Amino acid sequence: NSHQQTLAARIDWDKQQGMIPAIVQDHLSGTVLMLGYMDRDALAKTLETGLVTFYSRSKQRLWTKGESSGNGLKLVTIDCDCDNDTLLVQALPQGPTCHLGTTSCWDTRTLDFSAQLAALIQSRRPQTGSENSTSYTSSLFQSGTKRIAQKVGEEGLETALAAATGDKAELVDEAADLLFHLMVLLEDQGLQIGDIQRRLFERHQKRSQG
Ligand code: AMP
Ligand code: ZN
Ligand code: ZN
Ligand code: ZN
Repeated sequence: NSHQQTLAARIDWDKQQGMIPAIVQDHLSGTVLMLGYMDRDALAKTLETGLVTFYSRSKQRLWTKGESSGNGLKLVTIDCDCDNDTLLVQALPQGPTCHLGTTSCWDTRTLDFSAQLAALIQSRRPQTGSENSTSYTSSLFQSGTKRIAQKVGEEGLETALAAATGDKAELVDEAADLLFHLMVLLEDQGLQIGDIQRRLFERHQKRSQG
């Protein structure tokens, strides 16, 4: 198709000695997952199949990520950088992207703070018999779903009021309160922020199809 031709044509393949680096990013979380190299054929195959495919320098052949592990990368978008020598691939990972079993080939915990916070919230969930925690998050879990839901309602109202009065610093604080309590509520209900991101993406896809 035309996107494929324009994209491939933007790259000076001779200057790049036939291959360019492709950074893969999770379309939903923004987490950088891995780096691979694409030649013309790998780029064409990626666009044709919708599955991210590289040229493997060690295997010396086209390599569709996940071909043996099943942890493939479903293509969402692909684009060149400013000087047409690096690709940025946004994808939906079908499992851990690194062959070591982690989400990313880099330790991105410090970059992906919402995931880090979600894990912390989960760890504050009281196990049976550990009721004397001084943690605010633990006490929220202990006060039950109704109380957590009420907090989300209150913080939502405070967020709206902060926006109405035009106090940006206050709005940032209240929105932070709202997101935090919403994450606690989701965890309380056995859900994660990723479930919400997935739903938003599904709706977005429906819209762009229809
Ligand atoms: P897969 O493509 O996931 O089926 O994995 C096949 C093989 O490709 C693995 O055994 C690794 O040698 C290599 N591999 C998989 N994922 C990565 C990655 N993210 N970075 C580098 N090499 C990988
Ligand atoms: Zn560049
Ligand atoms: Zn890796
Ligand atoms: Zn508040």
